[in-house]
Amino acid sequence: MTDIQSILDKEQYSVEDITTLLQLEGDNQKLLFKKSEETQLKYVGNKVFYRGLVEFSNVCAKNCYYCGIRKDNNNVERYNIEDKDIIEAAIFAWKNRYASMVIQGGERSDEHFINRIDHLIQQIKKETNGDLGITLSLGEQTLETYQKWYNSGAHRYLLRIESSNQNLYEQIHPKDQLHDYNQRIEALKSLRKAGYQVGTGVMVGLPGQTFEDLANDLLFMKEIDIDMCGMGPYIEHKDTPLFERRGELWPIKKRFSTTLNMIAMLRIIMKDINIAAATALQAIDPMGREKALKIGANVIMPNITPTFNRKNYQLYENKPCTDEGAEDCGNCLSMRIELANREIGLGEWGDSKHYFKRK
Ligand code: SAM
Ligand code: SF4
Repeated sequence: MTDIQSILDKEQYSVEDITTLLQLEGDNQKLLFKKSEETQLKYVGNKVFYRGLVEFSNVCAKNCYYCGIRKDNNNVERYNIEDKDIIEAAIFAWKNRYASMVIQGGERSDEHFINRIDHLIQQIKKETNGDLGITLSLGEQTLETYQKWYNSGAHRYLLRIESSNQNLYEQIHPKDQLHDYNQRIEALKSLRKAGYQVGTGVMVGLPGQTFEDLANDLLFMKEIDIDMCGMGPYIEHKDTPLFERRGELWPIKKRFSTTLNMIAMLRIIMKDINIAAATALQAIDPMGREKALKIGANVIMPNITPTFNRKNYQLYENKPCTDEGAEDCGNCLSMRIELANREIGLGEWGDSKHYFKRK
C-alpha cells in the first residue's frame, strides 16, 4: 500500500505511473479515490451540473464499428425529432433550471442539416431568453460550420477521440476518408479555434485496448488541454462489426471499475475541467453515475429526449431509462445526487473553470 501512496503523492506522473494507477482495485483503489475526491472538492467544489440531453436523431452518415446506430445497421428504426419537439425539450430544461442542454445525434454534414441546426440553436436561444446554455455533439464538421453554430449561440462541443492510439482507432473504424484519425484531431483543433469549450473522451475496455493505451489517452487530453471530458465503458452491441471481437473483451465489471479509475486519474491530472458521469456507467451498475460523482465527475446529463424515440437510440444494449419520461428521470436523479453527497448546481451554467483560466 505504501508504494501506491508514494506514486499518488508525486507531482507529475509518467505513463508507467498512470498505467499502474489505472489498474488499482480494493484498498489501493480507495487511496486513488480519496485523492481524486479531495482534488474535486478543492478545485471544482461539490456541485453537480445538469445538462438536459436530447438525442434528436439516429440518422448517421458514418459506420463506426462499435455503434448501434451506424449507417449500415438495418435493424434500427430511424427517427428525426421535429424542431418543435426539440424546442419543447429545451424549454422543459430551462423551466426546470437545468441551465444547459446537449443536442446530440448521428453525424451529418449536408447543407440542409447544417442550416437546420443553426436555425434550431437560434430558436432555442430566443425561446429561453438567451438563458439556456447549448452544448453540441454532432461529430466532425468543418471549421466554418463549427464557427457558424458558435456564432448562433452554441458554446460547448463534445467530440470524443474514442481512442488516442491511432492504430486502435483504425481497428474500430472503417478505413476511409470519413473515419480518418487525423481528421478527427483536426476537428478538435477547429473547435478550439472557433471558441468552444472543448470536450473529448474515450471508450474504456475496447477490444485490443491496454492500460497503457488508456494512460496515453489521459496524457493526450492533458496535452491538447481539453475543457471537458465524457468517457464511458465500451458496451458491445450485437448488430455491429465489433461484436465479433467480444471474446477479447474484459469482463464488464473490469470495464466499469477502470472507467472510474480513468475519471479519478483525470480529475487528479486536470484539476479544474468538467467531467461527465456517462450514462453508459448506469447501464452496468444502477449506481454507476453516483459512484463517478463521488470520485471526480461533476456533470450529469439527464435524458430529456421525448420518450417515444428513446428505444431507437441504442448505441449499446440495455441502455437505461429508455422507458421513462424526462420528469421521472429528473426526480430519480436529484435523489441519487444527494445520496452521493453532492449538491445540484441548479440555474447555473457550470462552465468549465479551466476554459476561463486559459482565456
Ligand atoms: N455522432 C456523434 C459522434 O460520434 O461524435 C455523437 C453521437 S455518438 C452516438 C456519441 C458517443 O457514443 C460516441 O462518441 C461513442 O463514444 C459513444 N458510443 C457509441 N457506441 C458505443 C458503444 N457501443 N459503447 C459505448 N459507447 C458508445
Ligand atoms: Fe454515427 Fe457517432 Fe455512432 Fe459513429 S458513434 S456511427 S458517428 S452516431
